[in-house]
Amino acid sequence: MNKFISRVWKQVLTILTLCIVLSCSKDSDDNSSTNSHDEPKTVTDENGNEQEIDVSENKQSVGDSANDLLSPANFDEIVFELFYVDGFEPTENTIANFEEFLEQRLNKPQGISLELKKMDSPGQESYSANDIRAIEDDIRTSYNIDNTIAVFGIFLDGEYSENTENGSVLGIAYRNTSFAIFEETIKSFSGQTFGPSLTVLESTVLNHEFGHLLGMVNAGTPMQQDHQDVEHGRHCTEDTCLMYWTAETGEGLVNMLSGGTIPDFDSQCLADLQANGGK
Ligand SMILES: [Zn+2]
Ligand SMILES: [Zn+2]
Repeated sequence: MNKFISRVWKQVLTILTLCIVLSCSKDSDDNSSTNSHDEPKTVTDENGNEQEIDVSENKQSVGDSANDLLSPANFDEIVFELFYVDGFEPTENTIANFEEFLEQRLNKPQGISLELKKMDSPGQESYSANDIRAIEDDIRTSYNIDNTIAVFGIFLDGEYSENTENGSVLGIAYRNTSFAIFEETIKSFSGQTFGPSLTVLESTVLNHEFGHLLGMVNAGTPMQQDHQDVEHGRHCTEDTCLMYWTAETGEGLVNMLSGGTIPDFDSQCLADLQANGGK
């Protein structure tokens, strides 16, 4: 990786960084409040029959479904229900990148499908993880059913409630099959003339957050070799890896740089994923 690209990547990582620290601490909050009171939901299956499903399977902690997401053993098909607030849709290239990323990593012989759904703004300037859980509970329609595992994602307007002057959160993984992307915040970093493109930023955040759902690092998917950046939680020690966390925070998260590539898992992360049923 040349220096130029690596500088661009550093900027992206700087942004990601902030996101995930908070998300990880939020994950643990969720553990304690795992919803024991969830009512079963009634959904209509592909044959038009109503079926009652246990939504609690989709309300576990981040990383708990890593093997089910990666391997075909329990689920040989996966569906993504991706909501976006009107005006905050990810780019077509971001979705195409994400599909390619999923095809490369997930063993789902019966297929991987994504459905994008537009929604009205919930009308908040900022969202806490609990706000987002409540929104999900309202609008989510896809849950694990038979051999199909379901994932929920939401691209929000507004910002994360725990943003600080030094850190703007771009995404959080907050349940075993749920993540949120702060699209308005991403857009605010992508507009600069020489900064990373919107697609590069979106794709990096999206893939990274989904990486946490895949149990990375050492959080649901066991490590084959030690490469956890323990100081920074569920992240990888390799500084070119998709799952890297950098302690740099800073103003000028996106400097006057152009281009940039979307990072991938490094060899150690890949080995972990493959050992846990992934490709
Ligand atoms: Zn992270
Ligand atoms: Zn890694």
